[in-house]
Amino acid sequence: MVPESTLDDLRSDTALQESDTAGRSGIPVAGTLPARPPLADQFAMLVAVVVPFLGTLVAAALFWTHGGVGWLHVGLLVGGWLATGLGITIGFHRLLTHRGFETYALIRAFWMAMGAMAIEGSPLVWCAIHRRHHEHSDLPGDPHSPHPRGGGWNSTLRGLWNAQVGWLFAGYWSDPQLRRYVPDLLAEPSLVWVDRYYYLFVLISLAIPTAIAGLVGGGVNAALMGLLWGGLVRVFLTHHITWSINSICHVYGSRMFRTADGSTNNALCGILGLGEGWHNNHHAFPTSARHGLAWWQFDASWLVIRLMQACRLAWDVKLPSPKAIAARRI
Ligand SMILES: [Zn+2]
Ligand SMILES: [Zn+2]
Repeated sequence: MVPESTLDDLRSDTALQESDTAGRSGIPVAGTLPARPPLADQFAMLVAVVVPFLGTLVAAALFWTHGGVGWLHVGLLVGGWLATGLGITIGFHRLLTHRGFETYALIRAFWMAMGAMAIEGSPLVWCAIHRRHHEHSDLPGDPHSPHPRGGGWNSTLRGLWNAQVGWLFAGYWSDPQLRRYVPDLLAEPSLVWVDRYYYLFVLISLAIPTAIAGLVGGGVNAALMGLLWGGLVRVFLTHHITWSINSICHVYGSRMFRTADGSTNNALCGILGLGEGWHNNHHAFPTSARHGLAWWQFDASWLVIRLMQACRLAWDVKLPSPKAIAARRI
């Protein structure tokens, strides 16, 4: 849990920021708050959140009544989670948002496609919202801070819920302010193309496990189970693991570095989040391609980037210097 003293500092900082309506970058916060999203956008978000949840409930019920699930469908779930999860952590986050390393256009396109198939939003919108999070982290203007005003357990629960799911309905998706947050990415035609045809990637993301299960398992039932386990359950897990970084990793865990927010390192989120749970390290050194900076902090995404680097498929890999690490250590 983030120490109370840190949160007190944060709250006084927040009060200060609210009084002059300026975020960490000095950009007026009032102007960054989005308007209420259109009903159609809210409905689309509701579908994206609720359908995978309902699919997971159905899968759990079938698991219980049919005495388990076959290896084909487990493979589609785990394989799909790893491919699209790494698409988010390596592609959307470390490569596109923070430019933690450089790679060939084809590999960039591959990670972009994998990230889009996680169904967490198009690359431009995802990156814009995440850059806004770093700009205002745990201050007014942060799209998903779990730190509400006030204290008490119900306020903590409300904050966690808002950072996990509630913020999705606050309008940041409808008003991502692309020109302000991702002007560099807007200049990439391939990214703009993926953004325009994002829903095609959503369809492909669900069609692939359905088709593989149908072909390998033979039959409509196997295909539908592929859609369930490799599609909906996989999306549900990937969504909530990513969103846990927003909620849990700003409240529960330890802090290795001084940062002007409540970010924490959480081992469970570090492992399930493919390295993203070492979130205090990430807020201290946002452009670092490696988030698990200590030898014992397992960072699956870093291992893949390191492998790409060894195969000369990644270069200009950014890491904090030992001096910078020592200077920010708590
Ligand atoms: Zn954060
Ligand atoms: Zn980040």
